[in-house]
Amino acid sequence: MALTDKFGRQISDLRVSVTDRCNFRCVYCRSADPENHMAEHALLEWDEFERLVRILVGMGIRKVRVTGGEPLVRPGVEDFVARLKAIGVQDLSMTTNGHLLAERCDRLVAAGLDRINISLDSLNREKFEKVTRTKTFAQVLAGIEAAQASPLRPVKVNAVLVRGLNDDEVEAFAEFAREKDIVMRFIEFMPLDADRAWTRDMVVPAAEVYRRISARWPLIPVVHERSETARKYRFADGGGEIGLIAPVTQPFCGHCSRIRLTADGKLRTCLFSKEDHDVKSLLRSGMGDREIGDAIVAMVQTKEKSHRINEPDFVPPSRTMVYIGG
Ligand code: SAM
Ligand code: SF4
Repeated sequence: MALTDKFGRQISDLRVSVTDRCNFRCVYCRSADPENHMAEHALLEWDEFERLVRILVGMGIRKVRVTGGEPLVRPGVEDFVARLKAIGVQDLSMTTNGHLLAERCDRLVAAGLDRINISLDSLNREKFEKVTRTKTFAQVLAGIEAAQASPLRPVKVNAVLVRGLNDDEVEAFAEFAREKDIVMRFIEFMPLDADRAWTRDMVVPAAEVYRRISARWPLIPVVHERSETARKYRFADGGGEIGLIAPVTQPFCGHCSRIRLTADGKLRTCLFSKEDHDVKSLLRSGMGDREIGDAIVAMVQTKEKSHRINEPDFVPPSRTMVYIGG
């Protein structure tokens, strides 16, 4: 029973959000004001996540990314990683803001995590504090160092560029990639922020990032899988790599291989889906694995052809990024 949608796209990639909670309040993601959190009882238990992932691995899911909210704030996430590895997930990764990573890296490695993505939106302490609304710059840098010193590979650093906020740092981020021999990924700002402040003018197009970096350092394209979100380049004269993720200006929906599971047990076929599918109630209804698998096959048939951000009638989803899982 393979997972293929009605446009012939094979689904091989699952993002699992284990919590909607986060110890940061990044301006492009959360609001400065307190938000409502999912009730504790609304969250899937680790056993339920594990069962769903096992069913999905049996249907062709090869890559699983553990995300959130901030995945490292949910106690027990290392054990969960170990359970996913034991199921046989081929490519097991995590996206984290890095705040708690230095102290948790060894345990994640021991649990079987393969690779990691760490968010870092500024190399300037003050600006980092403004973006994340925290004072954790040193801890995040220490998290990146810990990941680099560990067997996790590749270590990728993610920056969401917002015009007027951190777009002056493109070249500095490229230098950081070169110095640290790291994969630096530039992500276009998407209309998924809690404040609904997104406008097209705030998006820094990937083409501009490419132009600015390649004007300083010649870049060579790196071969990537068709379904990968990033266009990848290495520097002609040394270490480091850059990745350009352009969901707004160069949508990659035609090759999308992803589905998402939210912390409260909803399956989403697109970041921008208007509706999600309740798998928690199936899990708790006494249904067998086979029937749940059949239900998921039907859900995948509703996967949207594309995200429609660039259509005049685009409406952002009611769930924002922190509730979906990036
Ligand atoms: N808390 C973790 C972190 O920040 O890495 C994991 C969850 S976060 C929602 C996953 C990724 O989504 C991060 O790289 C973050 O920068 C990105 N992200 C959040 N809001 C975004 C937005 N409005 N547009 C583009 N990317 C966004
Ligand atoms: Fe938290 Fe990640 Fe959203 Fe920042 S991007 S507020 S770290 S979930």
